[in-house]
Amino acid sequence: MAKARKKIQRTIRLIRSPSADGVGLFRIAAGRKSDWYTFHEIPCEIGGRGFAVHRLGLGTLYHVRVGVPEDCSCECLGFLRHGKCKHVLGLLALIRRKEI
Ligand SMILES: [Zn+2]
Repeated sequence: MAKARKKIQRTIRLIRSPSADGVGLFRIAAGRKSDWYTFHEIPCEIGGRGFAVHRLGLGTLYHVRVGVPEDCSCECLGFLRHGKCKHVLGLLALIRRKEI
């Protein structure tokens, strides 16, 4: 019998709100690993809200779009492969919690 794999819980936390100067900071933690990202909202005319999300340390920049499912997109490999990723899910969670 295959053992059920324990699913790693991923959480996003808003560290700094972008309300003051437009630049915010959040952290995505999964298990013992966590990544920090700065982000700012960018104008989006094709539906949903657009964000430039910059992963700290590696300098990777992703353009992330979130909204209704058809309006969600991201430039990372995870989204290209699976149609969803931690950046989209994380920003959706922050919006759902009315934090951004
Ligand atoms: Zn992504």
